[in-house]
Amino acid sequence: MRILEVSNGKKAVITLRTWFIEDAGGGCRAFSEVVVLVSESPVESYTARVPLTWDGGESLEEVVCRAVIEMMEKAGVSRNDQLLVCSGNIFHGLHAWLTENNYNWEYARMDGLAHDIAEDAFYSQILKAGFPPHIKLTERNYRDFYRVLEKWIMEDESRLSYLKDRLVRQKPVETRYVLKGNGARKLRCCGCKKNILPYTPVVEFKARQDGKRVRKCYHPDCSPVTPLKNKLKAATGKVNGTAREGLMAICRKETSCGICNLNIAPDNQAFHVYLDGKLVVCHPGCASVEYKQET
Ligand SMILES: [Zn+2]
Ligand SMILES: [Zn+2]
Repeated sequence: MRILEVSNGKKAVITLRTWFIEDAGGGCRAFSEVVVLVSESPVESYTARVPLTWDGGESLEEVVCRAVIEMMEKAGVSRNDQLLVCSGNIFHGLHAWLTENNYNWEYARMDGLAHDIAEDAFYSQILKAGFPPHIKLTERNYRDFYRVLEKWIMEDESRLSYLKDRLVRQKPVETRYVLKGNGARKLRCCGCKKNILPYTPVVEFKARQDGKRVRKCYHPDCSPVTPLKNKLKAATGKVNGTAREGLMAICRKETSCGICNLNIAPDNQAFHVYLDGKLVVCHPGCASVEYKQET
């Protein structure tokens, strides 16, 4: 209970509550994520499950945000109440919504009742599915527990239905990263700031930010995000009797083949590979390249 000064000098007594918002199960490849809204005094709790899959193109953050708003409505959470919210990525959409709508909220680390309620609700789905009850999460070692759980799911085809749909959960940003082959020009990696050589793998990020077109390139190992799309025509070819990793790319100008010395006509696919730091271009046939062009 808190006493608020009202504008005309009168005092009003308003019951202000503290609510905790926490999630569980996001790191596990199976079973629904659980989100909870919990008050410790008086004890009151609301639980929602994210479906394993959904239609309509909503992101995970949006689905979670909607689920929490529904719980807040049921609980009658007011803008004067204090909201302590887990900082996890799953709540990014909610954080933005709470700010936009002038709620009194802040990040908090959860170890109390909200955490326990969320974990219990997630765990109850696992037990219900028939997972051996003696295997339990200990000391917050989620990684090992989820690994055992995922192995158990993979053991039986009928259990695959407990897996989360990964595609609908992927953030839109991941779709903007593409793994591809670099062209004839050197690029600068936005991660390590070193050069990305021509005709080597590159991760390209393209987006519109503040109305401007943005393009960023990374070495595959320097990319902040694992790209969803793969347009890289990686290929293995034999040069000087040794199998080497290179890539297929259109030969833009007339080039002589590094193996037979005959011309490679422009606009044809050629095998590009680095030997001792030097780019060598070959007829795919000359290098016995095993590569099936995707149609
Ligand atoms: Zn780099
Ligand atoms: Zn050749």
